Amino acid sequence: MDRGRGCFEVKATDLLGRVGRLYTKSGSLETPALLPVVHPLNQELDVDIIKKIGFKAIMTNAYITFKRLGEAAQKRGIHSIIGFDGVIMTDSGGYQMLEYGDVDIAPAEMASFEESIGTDIAIVLDRPTGFSRNRAFAEQTVKETLKAAEETIAVRKRQDLLWVGPIQGGLFTDLVAESARKTSTLPFDIHALGSPTEVMKSYNFQHLVKMIIAAKTNTPLNKPLHLFGAGHPLTMPIAVALGCDLFDSASYILYAKDDRYLTPHGTIRLDELIELACPCPICTQYTLAEIKSSDKAERIKLLATHNLYLLQSEVKRIKQAIFEGRLWDAVALKCRSHPKLWSAFEEMTRHSKILEDGTPLFKPKAVNLYSKEDLRRPEVSRAYAKIKKSFKFEERRLLILASITSEERWLATPFCKHLLKEGFKDYQLLFLSPPYRLIPAEISEIYPLSQTLYSSSLTTNLSTKSLERDLKRILKLGRYKQLIAVCLNKHLHSKLYALSRRLNFKLLDYCKQGASKQLQAAEQILQILRSQTQV
Ligand SMILES: [Zn+2]
Repeated sequence: MDRGRGCFEVKATDLLGRVGRLYTKSGSLETPALLPVVHPLNQELDVDIIKKIGFKAIMTNAYITFKRLGEAAQKRGIHSIIGFDGVIMTDSGGYQMLEYGDVDIAPAEMASFEESIGTDIAIVLDRPTGFSRNRAFAEQTVKETLKAAEETIAVRKRQDLLWVGPIQGGLFTDLVAESARKTSTLPFDIHALGSPTEVMKSYNFQHLVKMIIAAKTNTPLNKPLHLFGAGHPLTMPIAVALGCDLFDSASYILYAKDDRYLTPHGTIRLDELIELACPCPICTQYTLAEIKSSDKAERIKLLATHNLYLLQSEVKRIKQAIFEGRLWDAVALKCRSHPKLWSAFEEMTRHSKILEDGTPLFKPKAVNLYSKEDLRRPEVSRAYAKIKKSFKFEERRLLILASITSEERWLATPFCKHLLKEGFKDYQLLFLSPPYRLIPAEISEIYPLSQTLYSSSLTTNLSTKSLERDLKRILKLGRYKQLIAVCLNKHLHSKLYALSRRLNFKLLDYCKQGASKQLQAAEQILQILRSQTQV
């Protein structure tokens, strides 16, 4: 495999999230990755500390470097200016443009400057949309960003740099989609979605989800997607789940300057902090009183260092969740931190079909379902589709409907083993299990049908009406002459009983737990089958 410039390898995926490796001229970078933003000249936190925490890449500002050092920067190179030998990404003044309305350099000139200082990952001098509600302005920023991208490509000389193509559009997701589509036709190594910071500041996380989906579904999957300025513990899990690979963040230092302590669920003001509930070196070597009483510059360093450790551990937790196939669970858990984040999670669940792409067909662990939102997991919607579309019900005499508990593999239960032993061919065995409703035994071992654990609320909320509809459909498809139900799960007893009254079928009740009861249930059904065969 070519491990040269720009190559992006994907090692593991879950939802649209992935653990990958991006190769640059200053070494490779495992993704998802967060790049701490470092000022090129005034570093309030020593870059060696950032490196020691484990960050292999940082982001700095090429525009400030250009303004302050000019040609001298070209002689020294950005790695020497910063004092960092890892991967350096350079932002190019887009942020300054957002803050001050304009910058006094053209995109082509900036591109040449970024090449001349030897950055590893260079960003086009784009025109950020920000949080503007003015559509004409948003359209203008998309147009100007695209023009800047084309001008940059025209003057690029070096082959060893990676180039980032920015996507703008802000609150207008159709413009984000258009911007992403057009930028994707240009030769960029990485794509980056702009303007999420303003959306995040306003807690409009639901819109953030819409923006990311518009960008992700219109950029090639084989290229990393960067989310500008969104390296925050609250939003990184959902952004990764939607396909973002790279983040940058100045928040660790901005919060520190503002005496704010980062936690996995948001920030706490230092004067409101009661416990240092964090195992990082700062929180274990210092007492809270020592941190609070240290002088301002020292306090910024301590808080910024803690904030970075916290961010780093969040990224590691996300990676672990991807490898374990538990990213959905991790996102849901995180989104319980704030009602507006929960709205973002609900928004994500509406895009189950898109999330199927990166979700493995088989996972080493069972799928856990807690609430109705979890019924939209890609594993679940995929399984629904499989039962509905792929399974052909053949004509048989008898349909056996068994309600079964989710704790063990169904075909391995004493009930199924005993029933299947005699090798009768003239019946169809159907399992009743809340998340998937009715499952033919033949496909029940396909992941995750019998490897799903669910909460009791999903049983309670199971609609008898939809069950009745499904069962009628199956009865018609298989032209079954008789239906017998056996209840082996006491939580499903009332549903099955209601169903038996509505459709008028025999219900054998064995739902008191225990292997001997299961054997009795199987034996009773076998007796019915034997007696019918003799006739
Ligand atoms: Zn800490």
